[in-house]
Amino acid sequence: MKVKYVFMDIDGTMIRFPTGKEYVTSPKTLLEDLVMEKDGLSREDAWRKILSCGDIDVHCLSEFLPELGIRYDIYFQKLYDSVKPNVEVCEDTKRFLPYLKEHGYQVYTATTNSKFITDIKLSLGGLADLSGCPYLAGYYPGCAFLDPQGKFAPDYYDRILADGGFDPEYCMMIGDEPLRDAVPAMKAGMRYGVNIDRHQKEKFHERDGLLHINSLEVLIPLLEQG
Ligand SMILES: [Mg+2]
Repeated sequence: MKVKYVFMDIDGTMIRFPTGKEYVTSPKTLLEDLVMEKDGLSREDAWRKILSCGDIDVHCLSEFLPELGIRYDIYFQKLYDSVKPNVEVCEDTKRFLPYLKEHGYQVYTATTNSKFITDIKLSLGGLADLSGCPYLAGYYPGCAFLDPQGKFAPDYYDRILADGGFDPEYCMMIGDEPLRDAVPAMKAGMRYGVNIDRHQKEKFHERDGLLHINSLEVLIPLLEQG
């Protein structure tokens, strides 16, 4: 495999939800709480103030923090506490991301998750913190292209390729939902599509042009073959 750029989904691919839930308290409620406290507002008025910052169909709530006067570190900690009981960074992710960085691959997220929540989830595995994730060259969250359909917009992967000027011949998309991850990425032109299912018996097999793996670590020797 000749790969330079690796695009990765987050939920189900880098992390998993052992409890089946994502948040203890939703990001919306947590942000409302902070605005209520800061400005002495009712919940309804706090939400109205948040909405006045921009269109929530195309923006992530964390983008409104400066305008709301809420500190990044405070919202980061609240969200961290809210996902901590439900999110686990997969062990193979903890080895795969450093491997890719060390070997000069550029890794980008391709996920509905904002940069903010991506960093929070990865920080649970010691891979990121408030300042970002050193293993990632960039982020393509659902709000990247101001499209209300986010990652599920039909041209999402085309726009990624155009945005970064990536040569699709050297691109690989890894995800756990073929129809949202590897398949549309390959349709946009990315050379390699990978689906991960950690319950799969075989280490890997190819089917319908996709590589099906049961651990991210399976990719390491395949990448090394060049
Ligand atoms: Mg997923």
